[in-house]
Amino acid sequence: MNLTLGEVKCKRCKGRGLVRVNLRDKLECMCPKCWGDGKLDWIENVIGRRGFSSSSDSTGSSSNW
Ligand SMILES: [Zn+2]
Repeated sequence: MNLTLGEVKCKRCKGRGLVRVNLRDKLECMCPKCWGDGKLDWIENVIGRRGFSSSSDSTGSSSNW
């Protein structure tokens, strides 16, 4: 994994991109913080990664007055 300037390893999954959901079942799923990337830039590390939420700001149709 190559970290560029301003990027940090995801502490939640320790850079693996996977988090263990259930210790007993050893079930792992995609890390909800970095979305499987294993790394975040510094602002994503603080506020979380955007882009998968339903509250998208890319819909320009609602801004027509
Ligand atoms: Zn992660």
